[in-house]
Amino acid sequence: MEKLIITVAPVGSVPRKKDTKFVPITPDEIAEDSYQCYLAGAAVTHVHARDSQENTVHEIDIFQEIHDKIKEKAPNMIVQISTGGRAGLTYESRSKGLQLNPEMASLTTGSCNFPNMVYENSPELVDRMAEEMHIRDIKPELEIFDTSMIQPALDLYKNGKLKDPLYFNFVMGLKGGQPATVHQLTHLLTMIPKGAIWNISGVGRAQILTTFFGIALGGHVRVGLEDNIYYAKGRLASNVELVKRVVRLAGEFGREVASSDEARKILGL
Ligand code: ZN
Repeated sequence: MEKLIITVAPVGSVPRKKDTKFVPITPDEIAEDSYQCYLAGAAVTHVHARDSQENTVHEIDIFQEIHDKIKEKAPNMIVQISTGGRAGLTYESRSKGLQLNPEMASLTTGSCNFPNMVYENSPELVDRMAEEMHIRDIKPELEIFDTSMIQPALDLYKNGKLKDPLYFNFVMGLKGGQPATVHQLTHLLTMIPKGAIWNISGVGRAQILTTFFGIALGGHVRVGLEDNIYYAKGRLASNVELVKRVVRLAGEFGREVASSDEARKILGL
């Protein structure tokens, strides 16, 4: 089986310091946490930007600072910028991070409900975002929150806006999205083209389950406080602990972990 790419999503837009002291918020904290996760085995860090009030923002300056500080500490780590955002945000604000020309960025190919809001990704926004990434040679991670998001990704591919290999991230277990079940996963796997690569993320309690799915079924795995703040019931996790657990489980399974350079080869960066 191919080596396992571990992505850490240390920040996200939801957890705050009052929820867990382990969530990194400032660019310095995000860079240090990413670096520690890199040392532990994560090849990719998926980052969001927060302001000093811990609110999620799309400020280019903050993204730049995060990006540069990660690169100072871990020059080889792959940085993936989030283009996610709340309903009503314009293409201009959502796409700001792409101006940094990161190696990767997230691209959600449809809309769904999040627990307290609509996650809105209109066909026009998805199309423009994909085109911008294509022009800038930024590898999109196709965020699949539900089954209906696969076909728009395949359409982008057919229209020449995505390059091989397609890289999907199946986000499972989020209220409003698809369930974290092996039935759903195998269904998704029948829908993606041969040669496509897939990653899997579980929200909350589903994170440990999706970790097993990814390791055992030949996918790749994302963990981190963006998706889940607990190590076990009632016990908060740090990002590094979550990454170390994936490395340990992969080792038990006999699956080697990919370095950032090996991940670049697999992802075609
Ligand atoms: Zn994210």
